[in-house]
Amino acid sequence: MLVSACLAGQPCRYDGRARPDDSIVEEVKAGRAIPACAEQLGGLPTPRAAAEIFGGDGHDVLDGEAKVLTIDGEDVTAPFVEGAQIVAGIAAEHGATHAVLQARSPSCGCGAVYDGTHTGQLMEGDGVVAALLKRQGLMITTVRGRSQHR
Ligand code: SF4
Repeated sequence: MLVSACLAGQPCRYDGRARPDDSIVEEVKAGRAIPACAEQLGGLPTPRAAAEIFGGDGHDVLDGEAKVLTIDGEDVTAPFVEGAQIVAGIAAEHGATHAVLQARSPSCGCGAVYDGTHTGQLMEGDGVVAALLKRQGLMITTVRGRSQHR
């Protein structure tokens, strides 16, 4: 199982904090889950400017039809896509069939992500990592509601 590193207690969020989930922390400690943070793996620093997908969702980003922009307007699409590809590679390497991801993130969100206006509004859709993992056939659960998506 692959998990968002911030849920495993790693302080890798854009604000330099973690978002530990007790059950995920336990799964990682027991060696049953692999933590990964796409935004760090894509080369972005921590802390970093908050980013949202603009013009679509993670599927559109992967298809070159939407961008990921920081709150300052910087285009960070390339590191987001690169990080997602690295995470997808890790999932494949470990034969992961399931991922538990942080809800709403422009990378890890699944089913709902922020809408690109940087106003806290959500829209239907997946983050870049979630979109790529779905395309790879993984079942995804998001933490915050624990809903399942295919
Ligand atoms: S939500 Fe995903 S990309 Fe964002 S900090 Fe957590 S693991 Fe990294």
